[in-house]
Amino acid sequence: MNQPFGLAPFDRSAYKELSPSPRIIMTPGPVEAEPRVLRALSYPILGQFDPEFTRLMNESMELLRHLFRTGNEWAYPVDGTSRSGIEAVLNSLIEPGDRVLIPIYGRFGHLLHEIAQRCGASVIVMEREWGGVFAPGEIAAAVTRERPDLVAIVHGETSTGRLQRLEGIGSACREVGALLVVDAVATIGGVPMETDAWQLDAVIGGTQKCLSIPSGMAPVTYNDRAERKLLKRKRIERGLRSGAGDSPSARPVQSNYLDLSQLQDYWSPARLNHHTEMTSMLYALREGVRIALSEGLEERFARHRLHERALMSGLRAMGLELYGDPGCKLPVVTCVNVPDGIDGERVRERLLRGFGVEIASSFGPLKGKIWRIGTMGYGCRQTNVLHLLGALEASLLREGRKLPAGESVQAALDVYDDQA
Ligand SMILES: *Cc1c(COP(=O)(O)O)cnc(C)c1O
Repeated sequence: MNQPFGLAPFDRSAYKELSPSPRIIMTPGPVEAEPRVLRALSYPILGQFDPEFTRLMNESMELLRHLFRTGNEWAYPVDGTSRSGIEAVLNSLIEPGDRVLIPIYGRFGHLLHEIAQRCGASVIVMEREWGGVFAPGEIAAAVTRERPDLVAIVHGETSTGRLQRLEGIGSACREVGALLVVDAVATIGGVPMETDAWQLDAVIGGTQKCLSIPSGMAPVTYNDRAERKLLKRKRIERGLRSGAGDSPSARPVQSNYLDLSQLQDYWSPARLNHHTEMTSMLYALREGVRIALSEGLEERFARHRLHERALMSGLRAMGLELYGDPGCKLPVVTCVNVPDGIDGERVRERLLRGFGVEIASSFGPLKGKIWRIGTMGYGCRQTNVLHLLGALEASLLREGRKLPAGESVQAALDVYDDQA
């Protein structure tokens, strides 16, 4: 028989039943999923126009409005990882030739830059050395000077563990008629993020970070300023079809799957068919966001702060140095300089193999230079922090590093006992 590509006959016993090992994941994502979210993923499928499913879609929008702290009509998930939400927003809001200002202070700023360029934008970049962020006034001044059509910026930069303050940028954008787009993938549900109070026109969140839902959806929200641009482009799409057309550079949204104007019709009461909603992921999203809101956002932010404090205290007691400007540290990601003479990758491997705990390295100029430790969502808890500190200390001792044995976990326990 013809075996294309040298495919061998299928051996029915070659593959064992799926059984991934339980892990303690302390990376900046994906993190351990909430057990209740995992359960939600296993529920029976509902048809996409079943009234019961319609109700779940509507409830999810309402939950997302609370999560994003917005009165926006539009708050729904784009089906795909967080990056699909970023692509949907930028592809839908940037027309070829638009002037787009992008302040970059880490890897995900470069991603915004790349996507904006693919959208045909004329991009103006501001760069900050990794480890720091911008003063909001610097960005506001650049907005006033450059008068862009759109500004895109990362709120929590997981590559460097930094948090960009956003207050004050929105009003500068409104003065020049620019839309302000924010990547809040790493911060949503873990760090205060105020869509309306900060005058953000479009925000993209993530599921697999502080919400502890598996990767695969990108909740987005946008206001009527953003929607006006969508509707204009939709008019042009129809106009071009009938041979009319607005301005010579005006273009319909190039993507079908990621066209927010089509997605909002699907999420509107009209429920105009677009793609098939990801049933199981929607269950997971609804459950994950419900859990976050029922904990209480303020309480949740405080919990992330507490475990960050315990972790930092334990790391310092081990004689380790934290990376980056402490004035703009992202509470949910703690970056540590790999000490001289230590092979950072070997330590990570030992943590995973010996202790079942995963931490991350970083990208580009920081690859191998820092460890990144995530304390996000369900993974952000005392047992995980203590386990990691003990495991890291043991691994460093194993590598021959001199350190005051036992003090790290004690330092973290001091923080927890103070709380009790
Ligand atoms: C993780 C992350 C992304 C990308 O998310 P995916 O789900 O992998 O597409 C984008 N921006 C930031 C700030 C992130 O931390």
